Amino acid sequence: MMNVYNSLTRRVEELKPLEGNEIRLYTCGPTVYNFAHIGNFRAYAFEDILRRVVQFNGMKIRQVMNLTDVDDKTIRGANAAGIALTDYTKTYKDAFFADLKKLNIQPAEVYPAATDHIPEMIALVQKLMEKGVAYQSEDGSVYFKVREFPGYGKLAHIDFDNQRTGLRCAADEYDKENVGDFALWKAWEESDGPVGWDSPWGRGRPGWHIECSAMSMKYLGETFDLHTGGIDNLFPHHENEIAQAEAATGKEFVRTWMHCAHLRVNGEKMSKSAGNFFTLRDLLEKGYTGREIRYVLINAHYRTGLNFAFTALEDARKALDKIDRCVEGISGSRVEHVERVESAGHIVVPEWAKKCLAEFTEAVNDDLNLPRAFAAVFDLVRQTNGAAATMTKEESDAVLGVFKRMDEVLGVIFFENEKKQEEVPAEVKALLDARAEARKLKNWAESDRLRDEIAALGWTVKDSRDGQSVTKKS
Ligand code: AMP
Ligand code: ZN
Repeated sequence: MMNVYNSLTRRVEELKPLEGNEIRLYTCGPTVYNFAHIGNFRAYAFEDILRRVVQFNGMKIRQVMNLTDVDDKTIRGANAAGIALTDYTKTYKDAFFADLKKLNIQPAEVYPAATDHIPEMIALVQKLMEKGVAYQSEDGSVYFKVREFPGYGKLAHIDFDNQRTGLRCAADEYDKENVGDFALWKAWEESDGPVGWDSPWGRGRPGWHIECSAMSMKYLGETFDLHTGGIDNLFPHHENEIAQAEAATGKEFVRTWMHCAHLRVNGEKMSKSAGNFFTLRDLLEKGYTGREIRYVLINAHYRTGLNFAFTALEDARKALDKIDRCVEGISGSRVEHVERVESAGHIVVPEWAKKCLAEFTEAVNDDLNLPRAFAAVFDLVRQTNGAAATMTKEESDAVLGVFKRMDEVLGVIFFENEKKQEEVPAEVKALLDARAEARKLKNWAESDRLRDEIAALGWTVKDSRDGQSVTKKS
C-alpha cells in the first residue's frame, strides 16, 4: 500500500488509481529559455522517484510533463537573440532531455509543448467565457474572475473572502498578498515581436496557467490521479489550474497534489533570478557524475528543504563507492550476474536480506521516505559484507536480486549511463599511468599538467581514496 502526503487535504493518504491499474500523473515541466538548474532537477528527480515507486508497487504510470516554450522569458530571449521562438527554445529542449538522461530520470510518456496546443487553450478559455467566469478587459487580455469560483484558495488553504481581491494580474507569477484575476489570454504587445496567435479576442498568446489545465486534461482526462511540482508552483500556478479546470468541467480536477521542497543555497531557494544556481553542466564540468548528483537530490526527504553543498557530492561519491564495492563483491561481473538472477527461477533469499527489502518497501511506501530507504540499503550492504565469505553462489545471486529490486526505485546502483563506460584509449591510459607516478612522487605540478592534458583529450580525471579514475566528457 503506497501512502503519500496530499497537499490538498494536508493528510497522508493511500494512492490508488481512480481507474484500472494506472496512475495518471501530470508534472509541471521546464520553461525552456535556459539550461535547467539542479533546483529544477530536484523536482524532476522527486517525480522520477514517485513514478518508480508507483511501478514498484505493480501499478502502471502515465506521466505527462509539459514544456513551456512560450512565455515572457522565452519571448524575451528569442527576440534578444533575433531568432524565431522555436529555434530559440529547441536548444534548451534538447539540453533538457540530455540532462534527464544524465540523471537516469525515466522519460515521461508524453512531453507536450505549449506552442503545439494553442487551439486547445483557446477552446478552454472560450468555455470559461461561456460559463461567465472569464472576461475581456479594456487592454484586450482575457482574465479569470477569481470571485466567481467559490473553491478558489482550497489548495493554498487561503480564505480569499477575507483577502483583498479585485485586483488584476497579468504576470504569470505573483504573491498571495496581491492575488487577483489572472490572465488566461494575453493581448499582443509591441515587445512580443513576431510571437502571437489569432484568437476570438484578437492576436495574443496564452497565459502560463491555462497551458497546464488544457494539456493535462487533453492527455489525462478531466479528472486524474496525481499532479506535482515544486512547492513554488502550489500558489498561484496550481491554484489557478484547479480554478480553470473545475470551472470549465464542473468536475474534480485532480485527486492528489504533491509538492517537493526547494533546493537551497545558503538557506535561499536556488533560482535563476537569485543567481545562486548551478546547472547540471556546471557540476559535470567540475568532474562530478550524473549518478552522484542524482544521489544527492534523492537522498533527502522530498518535503524537507535540501541545502546544496559540494561536501554532499563528496559524501555521495563515498556512499556509492561503498555500495559498488559490496555489489561487485557478490557479482564479479555485474551485468552477467543480474541476468543469471532473472533466469534462476527459484531464488533463496537469506532472511536478513528479506528483512532489508521489507524495510525498504515500507519506507518508500511511507510518503517516499528515501532517507529511511537508504538506511535499509546500507543495512543490506553491511550484512552482505559480513556474510560474503560464507554465502553460497545462489545466495549471492539472490542478494544481488534484492539490490536490483531496490534499484528499481533508486536508479543509482545499476546506473545505466555509467555502466556502459567507454573504453579508455591507450593514449589516455598512458597519461594516467604517468600521472599516478607523478602523484606518488608528490609532484603536484606535473600531476596537474597531466590532468589538463587528459582533459584536452576529452576525459575528466577524478581522484579518490582508491586512486584516480576517468570519465568521458559529454
Ligand atoms: P520553472 O522552470 O521555474 O517553472 O521550474 C520548473 C520546476 O522546477 C517546477 O516544478 C518548480 O517548482 C521547480 N523548481 C524551481 N526551482 C526549484 C528549487 N530551487 N528547488 C526545487 N524545485 C524547484
Ligand atoms: Zn504547470
